Amino acid sequence: MINMAKPIMGAEEKQAVLEVLDSGIIAQGPRTKAFEEGFAQMCGTRYAIATSSGTTALHVALLAHQIGPGDEVITSSFTFIASANSAIFVGARPVFVDIDPRTFNLDVSQIEAAITPRTKAILPVHLFGLPCDMEPIRKIALKHNLVVIEDACQSHGATFRGKKAGSFGTGTFSLYPTKNITSGEGGMITTSQDAINEACRVIRSHGMRVRYYHDELGFNFRMTDIHAAIGLAQLGKLDQFNRRRQQNAAYYDATLKGVITPYVPEGCTHVYHQYTIRVGDGRRDALRDYLKEQGIGSEVYYPVPIHQQKFYTQELGYHVSLPETEKAAAEVLSIPVHPSLTQPDLETVARAINQFTSRAVMPGSRQGG
Ligand SMILES: *Cc1c(COP(=O)(O)O)cnc(C)c1O
Repeated sequence: MINMAKPIMGAEEKQAVLEVLDSGIIAQGPRTKAFEEGFAQMCGTRYAIATSSGTTALHVALLAHQIGPGDEVITSSFTFIASANSAIFVGARPVFVDIDPRTFNLDVSQIEAAITPRTKAILPVHLFGLPCDMEPIRKIALKHNLVVIEDACQSHGATFRGKKAGSFGTGTFSLYPTKNITSGEGGMITTSQDAINEACRVIRSHGMRVRYYHDELGFNFRMTDIHAAIGLAQLGKLDQFNRRRQQNAAYYDATLKGVITPYVPEGCTHVYHQYTIRVGDGRRDALRDYLKEQGIGSEVYYPVPIHQQKFYTQELGYHVSLPETEKAAAEVLSIPVHPSLTQPDLETVARAINQFTSRAVMPGSRQGG
């Protein structure tokens, strides 16, 4: 079986965890601090704040920017549920803008039409490892006095015009095992603003500045030093992991036929958290079944856009139409691209896809072979 993800845990991670266990400091401590410093350096921000997950990183980032009840947050519906749920957690309302079908990211030309007097933030999601078009997003945010909170949970190390994803606004990252690097579970917030750094740290730890003096409502969203030790070891391998993903993607780009391969706009580097192809004419699910028969994993990210999830339609009353988002949900298929794949694995995947598409029915004709 060729799987969709396989975390790579080496001697460094194992050694680092054992050192933490022997050190007596198991919860948030010096390893977390070192991981934060290393992550900020990687991202090109002054600060990074470690959290328990990407979801809590998003939650804390919104709270730190004082987004709350009555506020609107403009984001994508074609993403993991946590991107939009972070607005719900703080009592705000996600407002969905359709995607650009080539990049799967926010269609920036539709953002301004979605702005109302209640809009407080734009929350662009750098989906699958490709940064959003940050220049117009920054201009719109500046013009309308909006905060930018980037969901970079899939884009560690990706760049837009030489700057890292997560360094344009307040960045949020996930360190879940399928992501480009992992700490087991974990998250990171990146910022260069003193006030946001401070606010995130206070919210992460029960609203405390001074021990057992609670100035405001906070949470326990801390990372443990066990997780930080793994994350720090992984951080040292991020460039190498991303290069392998890019090499695997380049092989697919050059080899796959009969499907639409990922588009990378000029000025962006893609870190291929996912390699997502588009398969039209209603053949996506058949391709997925065919790959499964050949022992090849694939996954639909995401089969149901957020605005069509039951909680959003039934509980929150969403009834919007986002044609490109809905079309993408019906056509996308992510195939294995992770750094553990061998050249024979890549060839097996590509051969199977090309076999399928060369035999597949043309629109309007009947199934042949
Ligand atoms: C993984 C992910 C999250 C949430 O991260 P967790 O660590 O799983 O909580 C949020 N947004 C996106 C786009 C993600 O891919």
